[in-house]
Amino acid sequence: MKITVLTLFPEFFQGLYQYSIIGRALENKILEMECINIRDFSKNKHKKVDDYSFGGGPGMVIQAQPIYDAILSVKKSNSKVYYLSPQGKVLTQKKLLDLATEEHIILLNGHYEGIDERIVEHCVDEEISIGDYVLSGGEIPTMVLIDGITRLLPGAISTADSYLEESHMENLLDHPHYTRPRVFNDWEVPEVLLSGNHKEIDQFRKLESLKNTWKKRPDLIEKKELTQEELTLLEIIKNKEN
Ligand code: SAM
Repeated sequence: MKITVLTLFPEFFQGLYQYSIIGRALENKILEMECINIRDFSKNKHKKVDDYSFGGGPGMVIQAQPIYDAILSVKKSNSKVYYLSPQGKVLTQKKLLDLATEEHIILLNGHYEGIDERIVEHCVDEEISIGDYVLSGGEIPTMVLIDGITRLLPGAISTADSYLEESHMENLLDHPHYTRPRVFNDWEVPEVLLSGNHKEIDQFRKLESLKNTWKKRPDLIEKKELTQEELTLLEIIKNKEN
């Protein structure tokens, strides 16, 4: 998979190239990544890329021309253009799974008041938000996307770290995890996890995952089609808590 980032601040992304899973995915050619500076496409002699907002108001807007030319320079028939924007649909794990199947995605980063709307209308396939709040630029949201997508690419993480059992994969949160020592500050690891009985461990984890979700994100439980086993477990949890 290839990811092209269009940004006014390519230096933001330097650290990503070395960073853990992304660094390894790049090294192993599971992921190809390039950062393009939108400013390089400015036709202004001072390389200016922003201007006042028509109609007035505070803040500058990134002009259409440099963004348009930057997109044209990298877009192929298999490319999709995503604009990171607080006005987009909020990112979910399901969306990351869809994105991870694309061949080439172009991630357009806004700044200041944003970008000229004509680019959104004519050149962007979809707007993606990372949450209902406003950041000063699309760079951090883009990094969130790159990290989330990369770990879903086949071969990017070992099967031991499989993402399949993680939070949000099945509209459920993950079960709790513990590691050595068995006792820390008099706090003990649940006995069943030390039993070696895989059936009981699976059952315990299923129960804890449901309990976690029911307590922390009941909205997810409402959205999920629960199996008969999960319904029974949920009843047990509710009865214990009441
Ligand atoms: N005036 C815009 C609005 O109110 O919708 C906000 C512009 S914001 C200050 C500047 C840039 O940051 C945006 O163009 C976008 O690329 C990025 N951005 C800010 N918040 C974001 C979010 N929640 N998700 C994704 N991108 C965001």
